[in-house]
Amino acid sequence: MGRLDGKVAIVTGAGSGIGKAAAKLFAAEGAKVVCADVTGAEAATATEIGPAQAAAMTVDVSKAADVREMMERTKALYGRLDVLFNNAGIEGTPAPTPDYEEEEFHRVMHVNAFGVFLGMKYGIPLMLETGGGSIINTASVAGLVGFPGLVAYTASKGAVIQMTKTAALEFAAQGIRVNAICPGVIRTPMVERFTAGQPDAEAQLTMAEPVGRMGTPEEVAALALFLASDESSFVTGAALPVDGGFVAR
Ligand code: NAD
Repeated sequence: MGRLDGKVAIVTGAGSGIGKAAAKLFAAEGAKVVCADVTGAEAATATEIGPAQAAAMTVDVSKAADVREMMERTKALYGRLDVLFNNAGIEGTPAPTPDYEEEEFHRVMHVNAFGVFLGMKYGIPLMLETGGGSIINTASVAGLVGFPGLVAYTASKGAVIQMTKTAALEFAAQGIRVNAICPGVIRTPMVERFTAGQPDAEAQLTMAEPVGRMGTPEEVAALALFLASDESSFVTGAALPVDGGFVAR
């Protein structure tokens, strides 16, 4: 028996890192999984899972037409939506606040915050058709504490946490749970881009983790699985760190 038997899940950002690990784990636990990404890499994740349990969709989460179409195609294909993992995100180019490019600020907010809004806007009505479901939004420890150089990223992840709480309250009585996860430093292509060309950056990020190492995408996916499953039936409106103790400092 899988922990997500009979459930249909959408995972955004499924072509890489945390989203890829989650798509594979959700499928291993019995879910049918829509693997969505903007790069085309979602196809490889769906192929790895296999056609009986996964479908790939090329989606830009920051475009309403794409997100609406993803919901329509999910309904046509699988008939329902039980789990929505709004996970796609970008880090943006770091700079001190006065030097932060205005266009870059909008780009990061557009994908990370507006993208999560669109996922909930178009996903919630589909979930309600079959009595509810579970939404998991990927925020970050950067939504809980400040990070110099990351004004847009921290703003976007703080927004994800607040939107999570709002939607959780709006739909608590209608069977939809909405939670945010706040990963610490997780070894994914995102962090590799961040540390590229900076010899000390990896050591510094590792030292920032009280457990003395970076997390793995699978460790984050495990929390997403708990929130996706009925085991978390009394958990909603939460922003849960999965961070090796990062925000406990
Ligand atoms: P990643 O770069 O490996 O994966 C992110 C995926 O999102 C990529 O496949 C990318 O193509 C996709 N994506 C980006 N923009 C998109 C768009 N507009 N539409 C659809 N897909 C899009 O990074 P990751 O570390 O796996 O990040 C996943 C999530 O976790 C992000 O929201 C990130 O902010 C968050 N996060 C990561 C860390 C970390 O340390 N890696 C820490 C905290 C939070």
